[in-house]
Amino acid sequence: MIAYPLTYKQFYEGLKKGKLLGLKCRICEALTVPPKMCCAKCTSTDLELVELSGRGEIKTFTVIRVAPEEFTAPYVVVMVELDEGPWVLGNLEGVDPDQASMKLIGEKVTIGHKVILPVKYNPGEGVVMIFSLT
Ligand SMILES: [Zn+2]
Repeated sequence: MIAYPLTYKQFYEGLKKGKLLGLKCRICEALTVPPKMCCAKCTSTDLELVELSGRGEIKTFTVIRVAPEEFTAPYVVVMVELDEGPWVLGNLEGVDPDQASMKLIGEKVTIGHKVILPVKYNPGEGVVMIFSLT
C-alpha cells in the first residue's frame, strides 16, 4: 500500500479554499502539480506537501468549440506556467472566446476554481481549475 502524500480529494479541497497545493520532491526539489504518486521529474516517491502562489503566466491556449457534458462551448483552455515552475492546464474566465488572440500569451493569471456537479461519466463532484487575468 502506497501512502499518497496528496490525494486528488485533498487537492480539490485545497482549491475550494483558494489554495493551490502541490508536491515538492525531497530528492531533486522539482514541483509536481496536480498531484501524482511520484515526482514528475525523477519519479521519486519522497515528496512533501507545499502550497503554491496560484499565480502564473499563459504559455499557450486553445478555444474549445465542442464541449463535453456539463461544459458550455465555446470556452478557452490555457496552459499556464506557474511562478514556481510547473505547467498546469485550466479554463480561462473573463475573456470572450471569440476575442481570444495571441495577445493572451504572456498574460499574468491567478488561479481559482469551479465546482462541477456529478455527470454520467464522473459520479463524484468535480473541481476544475479556472484562471483569470490579473
Ligand atoms: Zn524528483
